[in-house]
Amino acid sequence: MGMTTSASVPTGPQDATSGHGTVTDRLVEANQQYAAAFTDPGMDARPVLQVAVVACMDARLDLHDALGLALGDCHTIRNAGGVVTDDVIRSLTISQRALGTRSVVLIHHTGCGLESITEEFRHDLEMEVGQRPGWAVEAFRDVDQDVRQSMQRVRTSPFLLHTDDVRGFVFDVRTGLLREIDPA
Ligand SMILES: [Zn+2]
Repeated sequence: MGMTTSASVPTGPQDATSGHGTVTDRLVEANQQYAAAFTDPGMDARPVLQVAVVACMDARLDLHDALGLALGDCHTIRNAGGVVTDDVIRSLTISQRALGTRSVVLIHHTGCGLESITEEFRHDLEMEVGQRPGWAVEAFRDVDQDVRQSMQRVRTSPFLLHTDDVRGFVFDVRTGLLREIDPA
């Protein structure tokens, strides 16, 4: 997939927005229908299954369907790559210490956009905007190794209460199957 550092990204076909309004208008419209059929589930904020899932933001990965999850079951923490950044540790820390989760599931996937870019992305970005980003791109070549590194970051975090049940997987976007990665 084409990635660019350019600020002007093509918006795609207009018919994706049902012919009128912006895509956000379409989402807001869909929400009105959702709310019309919605009944208060009467839950509190603590995930029923006491699990937090950290996954890539990839549009082909529907976490709830792929894992048989229902509303209220889990925390989902997503970013580009499903990388365990300081901010993911922040969310996991709150998830465990304030909201009672005990297990962590990490999900990366085949065909990730981060495999097709390099740390050069960061350099190009700096050249373009005249400022070096404070974050790492976290590009990778070997998805299995990237999952192992993510598991290691979770397991060694001093802030987390529960690091005994941390498992990592690669989701195959073509078959829908998860493949578990052995920790190093
Ligand atoms: Zn991805």
